[in-house]
Amino acid sequence: MAKLTVRDLSVKGKRVIVRVDFNVPIKEGKIKDDNRIVQALPTINYLVEQGARIILMSHLGKVDHKDPEQTAADKAKNNMAPVAARLGELVKTKVSFVPETKGAALEAAVAELKDGEIVVVQNTRYEKGESKNDPELSKYWASLADLFVTDAFGSVHRAHSSTVGIAEILPSALGFLVEKEVDMLGKAVYEPVRPFVAILGGAKVSDKIAVIENLLTIADKVLIGGGMAYTFLKAEGKEIGKSLVEEDRIEMAKDFLARSNGKLILPVDHVAASAFAEDADTKIVDNDHIPTDYMGLDIGPETIALFKKELLGAKTVVWNGPMGVFEMKPFAKGTLEICTAISELPGAMTVIGGGDSAAAAIQLGFKDKFSHISTGGGASLEFMEGKELPGIAVIKEK
Ligand code: ADP
Ligand code: MG
Repeated sequence: MAKLTVRDLSVKGKRVIVRVDFNVPIKEGKIKDDNRIVQALPTINYLVEQGARIILMSHLGKVDHKDPEQTAADKAKNNMAPVAARLGELVKTKVSFVPETKGAALEAAVAELKDGEIVVVQNTRYEKGESKNDPELSKYWASLADLFVTDAFGSVHRAHSSTVGIAEILPSALGFLVEKEVDMLGKAVYEPVRPFVAILGGAKVSDKIAVIENLLTIADKVLIGGGMAYTFLKAEGKEIGKSLVEEDRIEMAKDFLARSNGKLILPVDHVAASAFAEDADTKIVDNDHIPTDYMGLDIGPETIALFKKELLGAKTVVWNGPMGVFEMKPFAKGTLEICTAISELPGAMTVIGGGDSAAAAIQLGFKDKFSHISTGGGASLEFMEGKELPGIAVIKEK
């Protein structure tokens, strides 16, 4: 069942609100990484070429609405102006910026739009009602346009005015980025070519329970690394020293192990460190020799070999969560080696979901070496959990 996409809309001369994810890192008014803006260009350029009148909306950072002083500070910090300026450099049409989320200036800018031109609206979170999916706000925003396109994959797991509210009112469709995300993640998780191997890591089991649960029922193997492996090892009765552990998840880890039919594969050795620090003393130890005053900060060489063996012949691989504390050089090897192994699998569909995993892969130079690196941290996790994403659910089937 395919959803309507921007190709199904007749957009010439129409006012089209596009919800994009322009939530880029900004420091002292300078954009540190414009990848999210770049990712939105296919949809924006298509609409420009088709002669739509484009109204771009996005959130940027967080805006507190409880304490007025904080609200003012957050608004100053999360002003969309530099984003609009950067977009102006990336597209070949006129881009105007409205520093408001409501009112006469915004309405005038929209009325003045010519076919193929763009208005960027101020940060949607300037409005208190945005994250509450306030019906009045949604109605007002919808009144500015004829059509709505959702292209902010990083926000589709949130039922906000700009992601769901407007879409409930206007004829709506998916943009190219969201279409690609749904297609790639959907193929990997719901129509995997087998063998299907899932690799899960990262910090906490508690963040990933629903993902583990869902992938255990679908994947042929689930390899567990990173900090969350230690809760599983403790559940198996191992001494894990000062490694990350969630005591209140040990029973659940036991249950997963008991039900997994050998699908769950845990690390067999570790890079154990005397402290959570780049210059800590390190030792390679197996599961029975983690010193009581050391902590496991990366998978060890035997585990890398074991995981590579399990990956051999895989035709679908979904990876979420780094294998170690990749931000520190001495603990980045596991993540790097697994990243390399996945990227070299012949003919496999390889997908990364999860904010830090995607960042790790890009930082390690693997940007173009996977079939798909998801742009949505939380959204890709919820997708892999098998949850319905409200910003996608609201779009009609063809
Ligand atoms: P993602 O964003 O891809 O879903 P997470 O947010 O779950 O991933 O986890 C990422 C974090 O996990 C990283 O900051 C990394 O340093 C941390 N991490 C990985 N392995 C360990 C470990 N053994 N001990 C502590 N932290 C770890
Ligand atoms: Mg994360």
